[in-house]
Amino acid sequence: MAVHRRLRQTFGRRPEAPRLDPASQLIHGMLSVRTRGETSRKVFLRLRQRFPEWQGLEQASFETMWELIGEITLAEKYALHIPRAVQNIISLRGAFDLGFLWDWPVDSALQWLERLPGVGVKIAAATLNFSTLQKRVLVVDTHHLRIARRLKFVGPLASIEDASSLLERQLPADWDAGAFEEHHWLMKRLGQSFCTARGPACGQCPLGDLCAYSTMRPLKHTVL
Ligand code: SF4
Repeated sequence: MAVHRRLRQTFGRRPEAPRLDPASQLIHGMLSVRTRGETSRKVFLRLRQRFPEWQGLEQASFETMWELIGEITLAEKYALHIPRAVQNIISLRGAFDLGFLWDWPVDSALQWLERLPGVGVKIAAATLNFSTLQKRVLVVDTHHLRIARRLKFVGPLASIEDASSLLERQLPADWDAGAFEEHHWLMKRLGQSFCTARGPACGQCPLGDLCAYSTMRPLKHTVL
């Protein structure tokens, strides 16, 4: 895939990092929504230190959660949703453990996760792909969506939900979970560097000659 090859030439290979178990990845995903990676990692470690092995997290009060996760962008929402999601998993499965999803088909696992409070398709996909489950599913975040719209891989009004399935179908059939994860990482790097929301640097972008947006860009462009 030309886009993937170009981005890998520019950004290199995704650095290996320790994987979280899927339950921890779910928490990390919720803390990461619209929040810088550095902040969400710090808050995640603080929360895990306060609730070792996540014991008691399901009973955490809003005030306790707020004190621990107040730095993330959607703190008010996730101070409620995180304990509720943990409660739901415990009541449905007997423990806060998502290892049972290992042999589930990806679509069923995504649907199950998306029924939890505060869990959308991006968090569900990250829980399956980034964690020790390493399932073959593409994670699409706002960077990836913006770039896919500009490249016209998806329509201008496509949502993350629409784009996730459309973009996944465009990837090579022989890619494994690791290749999917690297593709997400490369697109995110592009979105953080050249293809930013407010000022895409099309002149320097490694995808410049592949991208319709760079040639058709109006003087006062639309922010996607
Ligand atoms: S050429 Fe411009 S719009 Fe297209 S991907 Fe690169 S930075 Fe984004």
